[in-house]
Amino acid sequence: MTSAQASTQTSTVTAYAAAAAGQPLTRTTIERRALAAHDINVEIHYTGICHSDIHQVHGDWGKGLFPMVPGHEITGIVAETGSEVTTHQVGDRVGVGVIINSCGRCDNCAAGRQQYCTGGGSVETYGDLDRYRNDEPTQGGYSTHIVVDEHFAYRIPKELSLQQAAPLLCAGITTYSPLKHWNAGPGTKVAVIGLGGLGHVAVKVAHALGADVTVLSQSLRKKDDGLRLGADHYYATSDPKTFEELAGTFDLIICTVSAPLDVDAHLSLLTTEGTLVYLGVPDQPISTGVFSLLTGRRSLAGSLIGGVPETQEMLDFCAEHGIGADVEVVRADQINEAFQRVLNSDVRYRFVIDNSTI
Ligand code: NAP
Ligand code: ZN
Repeated sequence: MTSAQASTQTSTVTAYAAAAAGQPLTRTTIERRALAAHDINVEIHYTGICHSDIHQVHGDWGKGLFPMVPGHEITGIVAETGSEVTTHQVGDRVGVGVIINSCGRCDNCAAGRQQYCTGGGSVETYGDLDRYRNDEPTQGGYSTHIVVDEHFAYRIPKELSLQQAAPLLCAGITTYSPLKHWNAGPGTKVAVIGLGGLGHVAVKVAHALGADVTVLSQSLRKKDDGLRLGADHYYATSDPKTFEELAGTFDLIICTVSAPLDVDAHLSLLTTEGTLVYLGVPDQPISTGVFSLLTGRRSLAGSLIGGVPETQEMLDFCAEHGIGADVEVVRADQINEAFQRVLNSDVRYRFVIDNSTI
């Protein structure tokens, strides 16, 4: 589709969906809504495979909405615009991330923190009901097109390829936001736990911000990659000596792991008043002894993606610093295999679907 004329009818598009929790993804069709005044229709070129897609397809986070078309790391080209769209034009390179709506009126929305919307909650790109659009079910980027409100689509700077930019829409903003919030920069020591999709972008961004960066990985298998990506140091957490050597070292630790970890051991690596931020989502509650926090007034925190203005800021920052994800492009018929490889930690460092194969 290349017409600037807005569709007045819904469109049927091809997608990959899981019929029920834990089912493999198969090719199907879904309906996209007719364009409202502020909607754009994006022809999707690439979609990253985030570990969250696997959690949600597997039903790890409670009852999901099925059939489910995952995908919230989306890049493509604007194919159509609604009658009142002002921010994007047909032919523009755009991205869509983890949220596609919010109340727009609460204090958090007003401050550009739509991900923490308190006026009804933000709406996720897939597996959710759009409370602000008659509970319309949302379906994600493992599809050929997506219709989205213009305000939840971002400009992809020309310096970034659509392939390498796709993972930035989740892995990029999820790591950029806490790194900025906790002031990673020159003179600060940052550790990143887990060198996967989020972790490898965290290393690049923390390095570009000027921090001294350490990777804490399960083994030294990916050490050469970690140093090439911008880490200054690389340690294996399977080696108990790591915890002796690095005790009291880091101002900020970014945890991208969803497996259970020894939280106390990792808190002991923080400096006085340092912060351990959880991004990864283990399926069981985490536990810590309170003395691990009292000692050195340490903080344990969490962070969820990022808001609309910060996502655009992150994309512009990545363009300026030449930061894209390291991707392995896969065909749509390889999605299930790619899921398994992510679960086996066999990803370097983000699978990205070529949506033309859907
Ligand atoms: P990923 O690519 O699978 O990376 C996770 C990394 O964790 C792996 O590469 C591995 O790194 C490490 N790991 C795996 N199994 C482990 C184990 N048993 N013990 C210790 N470390 C292990 O996943 P991702 O896409 O980066 O996502 C990571 C987590 O963040 C997921 O839970 C996802 O749902 C969550 N997430 C959160 C947000 C948010 O807003 N907070 C946004 C997106 C994703 P090493 O091999 O280097 O150890
Ligand atoms: Zn994600």
